Amino acid sequence: MTRNTLPTDDAIVCPPTAGLDSSCGKPIRCVSIDVEEYFQIEAANGVVGRGRWGEWPSRVERNMDLLLDLFDRTGCRATFFFLGCVAEKHPDLARRCADMGHEVASHGSMHDRLHRLTPESMRTDVLGSKRILEDQTGRAVLGYRAPTWSLTRETSWAVDVLGEAGFAYDASVFPVRHPMYGVADAPDRPFYLKDSAGGAGGAGLLEVPPLTWRVMGKKLAVAGGGYFRLLPLSLMKRGLAQAAAEGRPAILYFHPWEFDPGMPRMPLNATGRVRTYTGLKSSAGKLEEIIRGYAGWRPIGDCLSELGAIAKKTGVFTLRRQAAA
Ligand SMILES: [Zn+2]
Repeated sequence: MTRNTLPTDDAIVCPPTAGLDSSCGKPIRCVSIDVEEYFQIEAANGVVGRGRWGEWPSRVERNMDLLLDLFDRTGCRATFFFLGCVAEKHPDLARRCADMGHEVASHGSMHDRLHRLTPESMRTDVLGSKRILEDQTGRAVLGYRAPTWSLTRETSWAVDVLGEAGFAYDASVFPVRHPMYGVADAPDRPFYLKDSAGGAGGAGLLEVPPLTWRVMGKKLAVAGGGYFRLLPLSLMKRGLAQAAAEGRPAILYFHPWEFDPGMPRMPLNATGRVRTYTGLKSSAGKLEEIIRGYAGWRPIGDCLSELGAIAKKTGVFTLRRQAAA
């Protein structure tokens, strides 16, 4: 990969055939799972404090069994972004995923949004999870996803931390507008990400954004999570169809707890209850319908040369920090 010859920051070009695997012409489709417990989600932050995590029954093994069985039955190989603390408590999970042909990647250690970390504490957080996952699987951890898509303009310093920590790609930038996350003007296909202060080896970090559906001039999030459970499945299908037609990779994301209608209910606020507890009964059937309806699901880490080639055509996107108000 000749990352030194990348276009300049402003040369973001999106050729219509950019997402096609140049070797076989098949669309790139990836399912990713952020492996965390239901009580570690952002909606529970401040409701179920970290000191009380032990009071809530663990459900992650039960939910991972369900997902691994679904993927085994459908021939889907996925990427699992593990929290380090989950891997530590359930030391067989990551190795089971790797042994079944899935990719094991990092979701950090303790599910802290990057806004609550500093470059130093983030370095400790990501290196800790990377080390434990590599020890458990015997394989290199290539990818990272920030908790709650918290790699934004405010946390652009994280790009250099990830580059220095040795990650080959990041999957943390959601190219939509959202009150808690998102970089609305980021490309909707793989690109090279840089912090405005430079760094990341000068060439940028390979960024693999989740699927969006472009309609009426806006990019709508249709890649998974609450969007998948709360909205009609037809929206995700429209996104998948548009991505395939444009030759754009389709990266989906889910969490183990989203397939667990029997999980204990936490005292969340009204918004948190709707976002967390809606659509849990039908989610496994919907995911299976999506996987069986489209071919070629592969781990993100298996597609890096193709994703890198697309990113090279897309160019470099710089997370310019917003001026203080
Ligand atoms: Zn998460």
